[in-house]
Amino acid sequence: MNERYQDIIIGSGAGGSAAAYALAHAGRRVLLLEKGRELPHDGSTLDVDKVIRQGIFKSKERWLDKNGRTFEPEEYFNLGGKTKWYGAALVRFEPHEFEAEPAHQCLPWPIAYRELKPYYERAEELLGVHPFEPEPDLRAIVGKLARNGAGWRAQPLMLALDSSIVEHPEEAAHFDAFASVKNLKADAQHALLERVQQLPNLTIRTGQAVRDLIADSDRPERLTGVRTEDGGEFRAETVLLAAGALHSPRLLQGYLETTGLAERLPCAEAIGRNYKCHLLSAMLAFSATPKTDLLRKTLLLLNERLPHSSIQPLGFDGELLSTLIPGLVPRWFARALGHRAYGFFLQTEDGSDPANRVVAKANGAQYPQLDYDPARLPAAREEHQRLVRDFSRSLLKIGLPAAAQSIPLAGTAHACGTLVAGHDPRTSVVDADGKIHDLDNLYVVDGSILPRSSRANPSLTIYAWALRVAERLQQGERPA
Ligand SMILES: Cc1cc2nc3c(=O)[nH]c(=O)nc-3n(C[C@H](O)[C@H](O)[C@H](O)COP(=O)(O)OP(=O)(O)OC[C@H]3O[C@@H](n4cnc5c(N)ncnc54)[C@H](O)[C@@H]3O)c2cc1C
Repeated sequence: MNERYQDIIIGSGAGGSAAAYALAHAGRRVLLLEKGRELPHDGSTLDVDKVIRQGIFKSKERWLDKNGRTFEPEEYFNLGGKTKWYGAALVRFEPHEFEAEPAHQCLPWPIAYRELKPYYERAEELLGVHPFEPEPDLRAIVGKLARNGAGWRAQPLMLALDSSIVEHPEEAAHFDAFASVKNLKADAQHALLERVQQLPNLTIRTGQAVRDLIADSDRPERLTGVRTEDGGEFRAETVLLAAGALHSPRLLQGYLETTGLAERLPCAEAIGRNYKCHLLSAMLAFSATPKTDLLRKTLLLLNERLPHSSIQPLGFDGELLSTLIPGLVPRWFARALGHRAYGFFLQTEDGSDPANRVVAKANGAQYPQLDYDPARLPAAREEHQRLVRDFSRSLLKIGLPAAAQSIPLAGTAHACGTLVAGHDPRTSVVDADGKIHDLDNLYVVDGSILPRSSRANPSLTIYAWALRVAERLQQGERPA
């Protein structure tokens, strides 16, 4: 197999699908290679037992932590990537979150908010993002929190959900961490790929994992295509990495090592570094009365005293919340507690530390390594501890005792930052146009590029970045 395209995109998550949509829509000959397959439509992606208890859709890829212990990151290899499972909270970063903030170890973006703004708008339109009316239980909780004077402020949470989802209780109670069967969630496949998949200039191949990138025989700074695990070769003028923040850097590390560029390129040292994933905790607040809200995840809570943090309700119903209660208590009791619980997802922006990194396969190790330690980010860790403590105190004051659990290293839902964008090739990997510094035609459009991850969820920014990179490519501003 030796096929020629204008653009090859590796991976079909938020970034890969947005780039595929924009490039195919503009008439370019595009090949999208996705390692996973399309998810089934038989209802199994909404089945709590299969999705949560058994985890049958999660990747089984093994990794090592910083101490060499194995674990399985929460990655999903399927058409649409992690967006099929996401909680659909699509939030813009704030303008100041594009700037450096040394005290919180935050790197600057190479572009300002205003340069991404038109692409945020386009992404919001394509994904049909809108707020939902807060439901009675949450309205009551937030009202009491606001009155108790601890500084909590609620704002509507923008969601990529069809308004009619509330008429489908099974989907409405299972959109966060589940994949919609009725297409009531705007994920990357449904909202972007389905708009262009009929075009003759777009080819989508699933079950095709890219193994390595192919160099021009005269000039390794220029790629000619990619090779898949089954030995297939595909040629293109431009290659776009969109395999996700744990995977794109490993493809690039492999390429630089086999071509000898690792010795020469200033940016080689920065590849895989500055891994971020937010400091995350799940909190369950228990009340004496059952909770009946359906969507739940309709408001974002902020507090000026915790400027790098945000809180959103978990879109989990009582049945699902009961699965988070430790197995020490009997099932019937956990179920009864679950129905009286409201779940919250607490997140704090983790800064960048170069030592927090993805390593392809260190020193002949059997597995890749995710060397990440929140102790390297003292300011973020301190703020997250305050967030957990202050929020649980506020909940207790309004009569809701709460218990929190921090999300471990395997919680890679918000993985980003391993090929950071920046102006300086010694400290960043891609430039302001998404092109790898000093390579001719290799671009990055997934969450790897995020120099800062902000206090809120990353997908809308990844979609917007990919739309921007694709537009600049097709306008020929950066000819390959
Ligand atoms: C349970 C859950 C809830 C979440 N909730 C939210 C939310 O509410 N809001 C939000 O903004 N974000 C949320 N996220 C995070 C969001 O899904 C990710 O930030 C986003 O999907 C990242 O996009 P990406 O393009 O970087 O990578 P991904 O979406 O991970 O896509 C990467 C793709 O590349 C493919 N791939 C990997 N290696 C190869 C290879 N070698 N060859 C070919 N293909 C390859 C993978 O199979 C995958 O399809 C959530 C995630 C999870 C898991």
